[in-house]
Amino acid sequence: LPVEFEEALPILKQIRQAGFEAYFVGGCVRDTLLGLPIHDIDIATSAYPEEIKQIFSKTVDTGIEHGTVMVLDHGIGYEITTFRTESGYQDFRRPDKVEFVRSLAEDLKRRDLTINALALAPDGQIIDLFGGLEDLKAKRIKAVGDAKERFFEDALRMMRAVRFASQLDFSIEVNTLQAIQQNAHLLEKIAVERIHVEWIKLLLGKQPKCGLEAFVTTRLFEYCPGFAPHAQALADLSKLELELTTEAQCWGLLGYSFKLNEKQLRKLLKAWKTSNEIIAQAQHILNLLQIYSTGKKDIWACYQAKSEAVSAVAQLATLLAFPAFDAADFMQAYAQLAIKDKSQLAVNGKLLIKEAKLTPGPLLGKILNILEREVVLGEISNQKEALLTRAKNLR
Ligand code: ATP
Ligand code: MG
Repeated sequence: LPVEFEEALPILKQIRQAGFEAYFVGGCVRDTLLGLPIHDIDIATSAYPEEIKQIFSKTVDTGIEHGTVMVLDHGIGYEITTFRTESGYQDFRRPDKVEFVRSLAEDLKRRDLTINALALAPDGQIIDLFGGLEDLKAKRIKAVGDAKERFFEDALRMMRAVRFASQLDFSIEVNTLQAIQQNAHLLEKIAVERIHVEWIKLLLGKQPKCGLEAFVTTRLFEYCPGFAPHAQALADLSKLELELTTEAQCWGLLGYSFKLNEKQLRKLLKAWKTSNEIIAQAQHILNLLQIYSTGKKDIWACYQAKSEAVSAVAQLATLLAFPAFDAADFMQAYAQLAIKDKSQLAVNGKLLIKEAKLTPGPLLGKILNILEREVVLGEISNQKEALLTRAKNLR
């Protein structure tokens, strides 16, 4: 057992000593069996939340209405969730009713994929009621039970299926794939924020090809904001060996592939409820991709984009095989900039007022901008005396 499990074992044992069942479940079991690092441990139990709170002295009600209580142990918080079933799903997203149950089988039955429906007992035994182990071995994404029904209950599961295909480099089992195809339109019922999470995890996955191909062929993309007109671009992307590292890089690449301008990219990203910071970065990446794809250079645009976006572009331009693009040259040109930020300019407004006899106001700002640009372009050195002289000339 990985050390994270060893550390959590006393918690499971304590629940068992109180007369209840307790297991590790979900992603942590899947990832351990795959030899992947685990990022969070989920524990499922037959004990009700109130019973968990009686067993442990330090608990936090993190999601008690869903049956989750956090137990604090030596500074680590463990989410312990009561076995539950879900029913209703009138609106294709969340169950009308969550019911606590005492049976592990009932709890595993409501999970999305067979590989996510495995439980691990404290003695190391795996409980596999839906063939999850076989599917892990066969690198297969398969819904638990009747795929159509499961996607009808919660349409986000379709995005999760394609996301896991990408993250794990698995293929989607044929019935599951067909069910996604038939129910893709239900994705419209899902909040864009939740689709967003899965979409970015898909693109940042180990083998985006696998997920992207299914995302296109099942037509899930048609029900994502702004994607419907871009079937071909998405299909083309699904043929590339993508290795993406940040969300902004993902969006910059999509903007470029969709042939959007910066304003259109902004509109798309607003529809996806993307943060302003990521929108700004994606716009810089798109701008640089468009410039460098034509063989042109623009060091000022690199300066404005800043380091992270510049590295993102270096990777993308290599991936997209821009003609006459040399990633090492490109990175070096950025690294050699005299300044990386206006704050590194050897003069500032205060200094110009004091020593170049400038007066506060719009002209001062304009002059500072000119100095900044000339330093970045290497037309003048970033030295106080040189900049003061130049400022006086511009006055
Ligand atoms: P990761 O955290 O690595 O992204 P995970 O499998 O742990 O993957 P979570 O979203 O943390 O995913 O969910 C934990 C578990 O809860 C899943 O493994 C799955 O069993 C179940 N689950 C999560 N979302 C759903 C859903 N929409 N429908 C059914 N079961 C779900
Ligand atoms: Mg998880």
